[in-house]
Amino acid sequence: MKPEYFRQHHKEFLKEATVIAEEVTSDFFKLSPCHWRRARYDILTLEALAAEEISSHALALVAKYDGRHKDRLLRSAMFDFYRVCLQDHNILKTLQHVDDLSLFPLLLYIVTHELVHIVRFSQFLALYESPEEHKHEEERRVHQLTQKILARLPVRDLPPVMRYYDERTQGGLQYANL
Ligand SMILES: [Zn+2]
Repeated sequence: MKPEYFRQHHKEFLKEATVIAEEVTSDFFKLSPCHWRRARYDILTLEALAAEEISSHALALVAKYDGRHKDRLLRSAMFDFYRVCLQDHNILKTLQHVDDLSLFPLLLYIVTHELVHIVRFSQFLALYESPEEHKHEEERRVHQLTQKILARLPVRDLPPVMRYYDERTQGGLQYANL
């Protein structure tokens, strides 16, 4: 079966969710604009992902790369570059199979959650490469922070998304790829 990709209307929701997620996450962690110069990221959907960035089950994952400014060769000109890899096919499947979930709040949760991971990696509160047992704990922490960040927002249909993630996180189903 061919994977399902986001279409234009899904991408409109994603744009909107990303703007809100970036703002509330920066506010919550009191990040300065220069923080994101050291920890750059972008958010890609399935059609733009490399084969190794595609997951059969996760809704999203974060990949980490070394970035370097063009025309600069020194190591000091390097920076961390994170890519939020959205798994359109799994997100759309989840929306079909789980009652009460809707696209906008789910995307808002996913993007905020992945940004929390990136902030914690970039502040060395968590390591990108860490042993499996630490990853479960980190997932729980990231979920709690994401809940806290989003709790203040009057977004309709967010509670079912929280419940869905509560269950996944408690079950310790999968890591880093939540
Ligand atoms: Zn996660």
